Amino acid sequence: MTKFFWADQIADRIIKEKGKKKVYVCAAGTGLSGIVHIGNFRDVITTELVARALEDKGKKARFIYSWDDYDRFRKIPKGISKEYKKYLGMSVSEIPSPLGKGKTYARYFEKKFEDSLEKVGVEPEFIQQSVMYKKCKYASLIKLAIEKRKEIMKILNKYRKEPLDKNWMPLTVYCEKCKKDFTKIINIKDYFIEYECKCGYKNKIDYRKKGIVKLLWRIDWPMRWKYEDVDFEPGGADLNAAGGSWMTGKEIVKKVFDYEGPLGQMYEWIKIKGGKAFSGSAGNVLTLDELEEVYEPEVLRYIFVGTRPNKGFQISFDNDIIKIYEDYDTLERKYYKGKANTQEKRIYELSQLNKPLKKKPGKKGFRHLITFVQLKKEKELNRESRKRAEKVANWIKKYAKEDMKFQVKEKTSAKLNKKEKQAMNELKKSLIAKNYTEEELFNEFYNICKKIKIKNTDFFDATYRVIIGKNKGPRLASLILIAGKQNIIKLLGQIK
Ligand SMILES: [Zn+2]
Repeated sequence: MTKFFWADQIADRIIKEKGKKKVYVCAAGTGLSGIVHIGNFRDVITTELVARALEDKGKKARFIYSWDDYDRFRKIPKGISKEYKKYLGMSVSEIPSPLGKGKTYARYFEKKFEDSLEKVGVEPEFIQQSVMYKKCKYASLIKLAIEKRKEIMKILNKYRKEPLDKNWMPLTVYCEKCKKDFTKIINIKDYFIEYECKCGYKNKIDYRKKGIVKLLWRIDWPMRWKYEDVDFEPGGADLNAAGGSWMTGKEIVKKVFDYEGPLGQMYEWIKIKGGKAFSGSAGNVLTLDELEEVYEPEVLRYIFVGTRPNKGFQISFDNDIIKIYEDYDTLERKYYKGKANTQEKRIYELSQLNKPLKKKPGKKGFRHLITFVQLKKEKELNRESRKRAEKVANWIKKYAKEDMKFQVKEKTSAKLNKKEKQAMNELKKSLIAKNYTEEELFNEFYNICKKIKIKNTDFFDATYRVIIGKNKGPRLASLILIAGKQNIIKLLGQIK
């Protein structure tokens, strides 16, 4: 492990390579072919952390998020009505929302992701490409791309088996009548484009006044680096692939738009452990709000902050979630005791939505709350623990396996041998005699075992069978105390 936190290292690299600037622009973004998923979240949080690292160094950073919502609707994603076939070829910002909610198809998915981002404290400046293009913001850069189209073709052809057609243009035109891009360019001169659509419509437009011209993705991306003056933008695991859009983009931005382009950072994809099977291509993807149901915002941030972007990892929905919460709590304790090293300190700070609180939050552990929630004792918790208990409750409902679930019996039907019965009787007497802390009660179990000469494991096994009708369960002392010792005394009293 290096001494320095990864986002701080990237920030240093940006300052060094880009030189002194008033504002450093950090960008992320995505297309909207369907649901915006957790891979997109890694993109945006990587950028957010680098922007925060720049600010912590006393620099000004602009954190932008681009919605590529002027892209064409290419295919119908899983879960979307087949009726959407009629919209193929239109911009995703022109077609209706799939659920009737939200203004458009694009806006529906955008809003969903924006809302979940806000919950984890990620609040970039959103830029809708549909708005930018329709307002003709890129006209002069589009003109440049047209003028240098031969240069662009040369770059792209290096990586193509079939070279591009000699009449190839770096753009597409959305028909004014049918809104689709089934158009053919007849003539381009200066800022004027003459086009003809499959629907029969024909027109000559000035693209400084009509925002229906869109650059193709591979030119669009580098054009926006130039337009927004982007200094940093991360990319998925295919970022460095030869001939990939990042690589051609870097060449295009230099040779066509005369700009150095951003520094990159490759991030690895995320795997899911436990829960249902999530897979991007099948359209059965994990979304940020599904994660937010079971992970606290700080813990969710912590998972991403604590892992270098180029390292893959798994997000767990199985019992490992308990360990993740415990790791976070351990880091929190270290931080407030002043025992965290430089790296750990940074990880904790950046896991917070804002600055860390002055006093350590008084939250109970996830494991402990599993018991509270199932005994329906949330009312006894403080506000912070109650909030965490909501996540625990969701987890139990949706993902926990049977071994984590239990209910305290009202009547016990456990079959016990003589020794076990003696032990239960001792336990009853102890509970009547004294009010224990969790630790004291735990020690008392061993006193009883010694006295009755019963094996520890047999004692625990029997007690669980009496209280919850299973051989295993949550920590026994805490179970008894949370359930209320009077209830347990009553249960133990039923043993004849
Ligand atoms: Zn048309």
